[in-house]
This record gives sequence, C-alpha cells and structure tokens, in this order.
Amino acid sequence: MSAEQGLEKLAKQIVVCTKCELHRSRKKAVPGEGPTHAEIMFIGEGPGFHENEQGRPFVGAAGKFLDQLLEQAGVTRADVWITNVVKCRPPGNRDPLPDEVETCTSNYLQHQIKIVDPSIIVTLGRFSMGLFFKGAKISEIHGQMRKVSERFVIAMYHPAAALHQMALKPAIMADFSKLPDLLKEARAGMGKSGAKQGEPKKKEEHEPKQMNLF
Ligand code: SF4
Repeated sequence: MSAEQGLEKLAKQIVVCTKCELHRSRKKAVPGEGPTHAEIMFIGEGPGFHENEQGRPFVGAAGKFLDQLLEQAGVTRADVWITNVVKCRPPGNRDPLPDEVETCTSNYLQHQIKIVDPSIIVTLGRFSMGLFFKGAKISEIHGQMRKVSERFVIAMYHPAAALHQMALKPAIMADFSKLPDLLKEARAGMGKSGAKQGEPKKKEEHEPKQMNLF
C-alpha cells in the first residue's frame, strides 16, 4: 500500500469511527489534510465549530490566522500537513478527555505521523504539546526545537489562544518566523534547541519529559 493509500484508508476509518464517545456529538470527523510527504506537520487540539461543519482542519478564524502565520514563514497550506490530536469535536468545545486522546492518537495520529514522516512536527496548543513533552509549560518551551524519539518537534501556542489573548500574538508570530531556519536545521539533522547560546540551562525539574508514544 502506498503512503497516499495509507492516509486515505485512515481517513475513511476516521469518518465512520466510533471508538470513543466523541463520535456521538460530531457532525463531521476531521482526519486532516496535506501533501503525503509534507516536511512540516501541524498538530492542533481538536475540531472547532467550523471544522465540525466542514470536515476540514483549521477553517475558522484560527485557521485564517494560521494561514497568515504560514505566509509570514514563506510556506502555504498546500505545503504542510495539518491535523489534530482528536478528530471529532468535543461537545461544547470541552477539553478532550485522556482516554479520548489515547484512543484517537493510538489509532490514527501515530499512524499519520509514521506515514507522512515529516522533518518537523509543530504542536499547536497544550494537548498536542503534551503528547511529546509531558508536564512542559508552553510559556517555557515554545519556539524551541527538540528531538523526541528521533523526530524534531516544536511546541507553539495555538493560533486561537493568540486571537483571544493579544499578548501572545508577538510570541506566536516570532515562533513562526523561525520556521524556515528550524526546517533547515532539521534537514541537516542538527535539531538545536531554540534557547539562546549562553542562556542558563533550566533546572532539571523544569525540563519536559518526553513521551514514548512516537
Ligand atoms: S475522536 Fe478519534 S477515536 Fe474518537 S470517535 Fe473520533 S475518530 Fe474515533
């Protein structure tokens, strides 16, 4: 089976999936989309109102802002793969529950990552960050590229958070503007941290623990 066929097969399973309670309240599941071997994969949290209506990721106000951020980084949506931790909208926009995250990621997201095999994964928001950096604080690690199980991962604020808290906007814009350089680093296998040279190393208890999921 080709990579494209593999992604299509997963998408077909997702749209009829009943593996967790979130299927009860969804209108349309949102498998994710992008070119099969995109170099950058964005992972958001879960579908919102508009995504639930259309079955596509990041199509609301946060999606428009994401498009602006991508443009600023010199890439378009057609260049990147975009998906979410959970593929169905939690009712009332509540947070996805741990068992929903575990069920959905183990059945779908992990396979999507393996197939797309991106050079960089960008997590948007705390739920996707938590898959790779358990216990991390986004305020401490955003914009820094780290190697997690042989994959380069950068945690960033969710565009929706930046729309609601204007104080976060400069940070998310600065992080996105670093993407082209970080991509070059990832291609070269360097994977340097975004921490500035000479910056004091954070105490060990503040270092995020990496999960073995991926
Ligand atoms: S959230 Fe994921 S696991 Fe749950 S029903 Fe939707 S596709 Fe299936």
